[in-house]
Amino acid sequence: MRLLRRAAILAVGSELLTPARIDTNSLFITEQLDLIGIEVVFKMVVGDDRGELAGAVRGALARVDLLVCSGGLGPTDDDLTREVVADVLARPLAEDEAITARIRARFERRGLPMPEINRRQAMVPAGAVVLENANGTAPGLWLEDGDRVVLMLPGPPRELRPMLVALAAGPLKARASGLSLVRRTIRITGRTESHTEVAVKPLYEEWARAAVPVSTTILASLGQIELHLSARAPTREEADAAVDAASRQAMDVLGVDAFSRDGRTLEEVVGALLVDRGLRIAVAESCTGGLITSRLTDVPGSSRYVDRGVVVYANEAKTALAGVPAALIAEHGAVSEPVAVAMAEGIRARAQTDVGVGVTGIAGPGGGTPQKPVGTVAVAAALPEGTRSRVHQFVGDRELIKFQASQAALDLVRRILLGRIN
Ligand code: AMP
Ligand code: MG
Repeated sequence: MRLLRRAAILAVGSELLTPARIDTNSLFITEQLDLIGIEVVFKMVVGDDRGELAGAVRGALARVDLLVCSGGLGPTDDDLTREVVADVLARPLAEDEAITARIRARFERRGLPMPEINRRQAMVPAGAVVLENANGTAPGLWLEDGDRVVLMLPGPPRELRPMLVALAAGPLKARASGLSLVRRTIRITGRTESHTEVAVKPLYEEWARAAVPVSTTILASLGQIELHLSARAPTREEADAAVDAASRQAMDVLGVDAFSRDGRTLEEVVGALLVDRGLRIAVAESCTGGLITSRLTDVPGSSRYVDRGVVVYANEAKTALAGVPAALIAEHGAVSEPVAVAMAEGIRARAQTDVGVGVTGIAGPGGGTPQKPVGTVAVAAALPEGTRSRVHQFVGDRELIKFQASQAALDLVRRILLGRIN
């Protein structure tokens, strides 16, 4: 019997084609298949339409060993998965009385008669194995066609998940390649996607030729880049060793711009550095409106190092709560490097912490000038070793500018704590 190596996922349901509902089952299915070394090579979302479904099933079966369908197993007329799959594979459907009895009993436990339409859920294509559903009426179905397997699972996640977990531990695992897949994410800040690509590209080819090849994807968003590494190997240890070695090489070429290779966020990394040094931090935020403090306090245990965050939006607030001299604001403007520095030093003095952070900028869309366009952000960090500051020019909408400003402030603190600032 051939091993199941390549899989496709078919998420069935017209609601999944609307902006109101999202297909989350395929993410869970991918995660489970990853664990046992079955690669998901494509996935589809198709509405409750006989023709579209039949085309999708036929197309998928020509290309993969395993097709996992989710949804469309309900009792109503729009639930077509079992009929369409049976039709495509030319298997007659017959009622399985044992299923009908189970569904009837399920209704009776709730004091209700079984509606006749539920008989539909007891229709089984010839040759299919019935997968019991402990959490709902629709059983799952396992159907083989030559070397290929079609799995039909119910749509509700709480019904699908336990069913798939059991399959992945049992019959699916027995048919899987047995290759373990390991993924790792390197997070980078302070450089663009193309600068990251240029730095890492020479490594890609080396990794692709290695005994355990490592494949890579770059995911870029403003303020943060992720380099995803993955490897498949006969054992989890071998796959792990391959991505581990690759991630170390990548960290080396990316230098201080790479801040995490273990899934940690920037706020977690900064928090750990503060804990290591036994330092406490206070933040004075203008354009970020509390985002920096919010991110810092997203980390469990942050009470060990977060003293306070104040949102000093108005000029008067900058003076009253962070001790910024009114004359300094009058001279340089609220969005300026000297004011960010005064905010960082002022909040540090008032909170009597080791670290003070100040951020002031123009998040837009209004408020820009030719000298200080939208996206101008000044960040400063005051530490025992001195105060450092930067002026950035970010692009993007208001939300993105706020995020990038918070990222720049946290990253400035990180670089100073690492002694890696120029
Ligand atoms: P069905 O099995 O098609 O009757 O699906 C019943 C319900 O399961 C839907 O109304 C959704 O709430 C949920 N569902 C179906 N497919 C998915 C999916 N791919 N991801 C998440 N939820 C789903
Ligand atoms: Mg449906």
